[in-house]
Amino acid sequence: MAQQLQAIRGMHDILPVDMPVWNQLQDQYRALVESYGYREIRTPVLEKSALFARSIGEVTDIVEKEMYSFDDRNGDSLSLRPENTAGVVRAALQAGMLQDQQQRLWYCGPMFRHERPQKGRYRQFYQLGAEVCGIAGADIEAELILLAARFWKNLGLQEIELQLNTLGSSACRQRYRELLVSYFRDHSDRLDEDSSRRLESNPLRILDSKNPDMAPLIEAAPALHDSLDEASREHFAELRDILDRVGVSYRVNQRLVRGLDYYCHTVFEWVTDTLGAQGTVCGGGRYDGLIEQLGGKPGHAAGFSMGCERLIAMLIDQGRAATETGCDVYLALRGADCAALGQRLAEEIRDRLPQLRLVVHAGGGSFKSQMRRADRSGARIALILGESEIEASSISIKFLRDAREQIEVSQAEVAQRLPALLQES
Ligand code: ATP
Ligand code: MG
Repeated sequence: MAQQLQAIRGMHDILPVDMPVWNQLQDQYRALVESYGYREIRTPVLEKSALFARSIGEVTDIVEKEMYSFDDRNGDSLSLRPENTAGVVRAALQAGMLQDQQQRLWYCGPMFRHERPQKGRYRQFYQLGAEVCGIAGADIEAELILLAARFWKNLGLQEIELQLNTLGSSACRQRYRELLVSYFRDHSDRLDEDSSRRLESNPLRILDSKNPDMAPLIEAAPALHDSLDEASREHFAELRDILDRVGVSYRVNQRLVRGLDYYCHTVFEWVTDTLGAQGTVCGGGRYDGLIEQLGGKPGHAAGFSMGCERLIAMLIDQGRAATETGCDVYLALRGADCAALGQRLAEEIRDRLPQLRLVVHAGGGSFKSQMRRADRSGARIALILGESEIEASSISIKFLRDAREQIEVSQAEVAQRLPALLQES
């Protein structure tokens, strides 16, 4: 026998039993974002590698070591998208959607990062996201945060904390960066290997270090908030004011910098303690510089992205996950010549009851084995078509989940009777 092939490590099948909770998440998200006036956008999973190098930044974990990149047949370097913000902005620019226009967009789809697979961290994972272009005010960051908060509420999820920070304008960030470099350079003997590497290239990322040995040094580093200019302070104050007045609680976390180069002003994460080490379920912020970096006119943009697998783990842990319900009705065929009539009858029922989940037995087999399949299908009712029913132009109805007696109804009436019979069972 040939050896069975397995899926790639860190890439998971989403099986039929998993689909109800996936659909629950995606359907609720779609309904929610559309109720806020966001429109869906889908971009390719493959883009030119340059798109990510330019937008996410050369010196980030993602571009340095997490991208799936390869040369196309013509020599172009392509990458599977590690995130979708760059792709969405690229697409919106390309379609001329950002010329003096506001855009509220949302997406859902798989992302790819070559990380060490573990609970909550995969090599193919799904994100739900939102991106807004063309709005400068902090009111739009507030809207994005309110939208996410409502999503947790609709899903019934508890114990997700909002952490908030500001990185200030790019000028403030530049100033702060210099302060940081000189501070860490003065203590270069205490930097670990990752941090030494980041010292010149991406010093803000040192603040993000998970190494406990680095904690005291990071704790004593100059604070970014001291480098903020007046306009940056005001932007952050406006956001906080809206959140306070609407009643969204949050914690300001000055160490929150987010990994990607393109953020400015607001950054935020929604974090939970309930998932172990991989506790961030949503991250986002403002990224005004990105549009220009990708060849557009200077503009404004903000957005967030959520990890589906982590949210699904929470739904399951908190007993909120939808589960499989099976079909409603299973049509069993007793006797050799019933197949054609069975299919015809089923089509008539489908014409009248398009929402009904009706499985027609296929592949023959004894009546007993058909009833076993009917039971396993989850159906509440079995329709039985045999020679005696054909003669009488009727069909038998057997109740699989309760003690009601089997009945026989005319074929002409069955579609009309089924809804009530299913309700009773
Ligand atoms: P982390 O700090 O967990 O690595 P990140 O900052 O790299 O997250 P983002 O790029 O902000 O993540 O992506 C947004 C969300 O996507 C994350 O908050 C997380 O929920 C999810 N996510 C990111 N990487 C993965 C992954 N490898 N597997 C599963 N989900 C992921
Ligand atoms: Mg990451």
